[in-house]
Amino acid sequence: MKYVLALDQGTTSTRAIIFDKKGSIVGIAQKEFRQIYPAVGYVEHNPEDIVNSAVSVINEALKQAGLVIGDLAAIGITNQRETTIVWDRTTGEPVTNAIVWQCRRTADIAAHLKEEGLSERIYQKTGLVPDAYFSATKIKWILDNVEGAREKAERGELLFGTVDTFLMWRFSSGRIFATDPTNASRTMLFNIHTLQWDYELLQWFNIPASMLPELRSSCGLFGYTDKSVLGGEVAICGVAGDQQAALFGQLCIKEGDVKNTYGTGCFLLMNTGNKAVTSTHGLVTTLGATAGGRPPYVLEGSVFVGGAVVQWLRDELGMISTADESESWARKVSDTGGVYVVPAFTGLGAPYWDSEARGLLCGITRGTNKAHIIRAALESIAFQSADLVEAMQRDAGVNVSCLRVDGGASRNDFLMQFQSDILGVKIQRPVMEESTALGAAYLAGLSCGYWGGLKEIESQRFLGKEFTPAMQTEQRQKALQSWHAAVKAARSMR
Ligand code: ADP
Repeated sequence: MKYVLALDQGTTSTRAIIFDKKGSIVGIAQKEFRQIYPAVGYVEHNPEDIVNSAVSVINEALKQAGLVIGDLAAIGITNQRETTIVWDRTTGEPVTNAIVWQCRRTADIAAHLKEEGLSERIYQKTGLVPDAYFSATKIKWILDNVEGAREKAERGELLFGTVDTFLMWRFSSGRIFATDPTNASRTMLFNIHTLQWDYELLQWFNIPASMLPELRSSCGLFGYTDKSVLGGEVAICGVAGDQQAALFGQLCIKEGDVKNTYGTGCFLLMNTGNKAVTSTHGLVTTLGATAGGRPPYVLEGSVFVGGAVVQWLRDELGMISTADESESWARKVSDTGGVYVVPAFTGLGAPYWDSEARGLLCGITRGTNKAHIIRAALESIAFQSADLVEAMQRDAGVNVSCLRVDGGASRNDFLMQFQSDILGVKIQRPVMEESTALGAAYLAGLSCGYWGGLKEIESQRFLGKEFTPAMQTEQRQKALQSWHAAVKAARSMR
């Protein structure tokens, strides 16, 4: 009896989950690691912390399940995306800490690209809007700012990778130097139409091509772990960036399938099949994972403050003591009494893209109480997600009929029902909440023949709960109208 292990290397913690053939969890371990903030707006991770946490959770999960490394049929990796590591090809030492996707230190490089009028060209090639978020400006920063880095890179001595690549390189003692299309498509150096690194982009950023990893399919053999690192040789044969792994884990494999992950922020992704949709609403186009063939195109949009608004209620306002409590408070009232919360704490993302907008609490009357405010805060998560769904429908020209959900805040039944009401769309929440890890496990297990095919996997997916819209159209339209008026007011708060 063999098992598949998914390593989920996230922004704040690393988790290992071991699945059996039925897709059930038999072992799980999680470890947080250090967040490093060397200056305002800077976010770093020590790559050694990442590797150590990964090795430790893999061993712990095996121990918990009463297994040894030889019991694993395969390992799948899913990872925080865009985070950039540059290391020495010979020694394996990173030249500096990993620059995390959240880090804003390269905002001026991104602004410069826009000033030079390169936005359109970059979007055409990569599907992305020039921003510090993506890896390209971070690699350039390392080469320009770490002493001796550029010279070494030009001599072919340095390698670049997102976290998947670095982990595989370390796990294999330098034998695997590769990435997959989902991760490559977040670097802003990858042409999502030719499925190749783009030499013109490399020139603009002044990045030597010799630094870049080889491209492999998300579902296929990357190589084997080294005995000296993990105590055994196991095939790594599934890799995808976290959001695309969740999309695959939710089995959104057909054109028009959509999932929303309700975490700290929300990530909404739509599979658009073989159509690279050009967005006129500020969404990005990226690549999805597939079990075979060309990777699908994916439209992606994110809400900056999703579940984080609940953390704000808890930590800053002290209105609740746990996130779960928000649900019973919201149910104490039949509506928000006209109160709206726009949690534009750090500006607004798609479809508004207004970095100057600031948060707003409005519609308050003498009768407004805590329950109204908590309810309005939860509703704001759904309203923001609804704006993204609307933008996607318009961009892709499709009608979304069902939204699959996961992430911490998707456990909130009130929120899910309201989301269904405000979208007029069915919401499906699977029993298995771990879509991201499951996606990586599926990719690895399908590639090595552990699972016979998508049919077998589909047969083990169980719907946990379905929410169907119960709000009258007129009421929905009125609520959306008021929400948009509140957003407009938040955008004038500067
Ligand atoms: P991440 O992966 O971004 O850390 P998680 O998927 O673990 O996020 O979800 C955590 C987020 O979900 C937090 O922002 C928390 O406030 C929110 N959350 C957790 N449980 C609930 C709940 N029952 N209702 C609303 N929000 C919740």
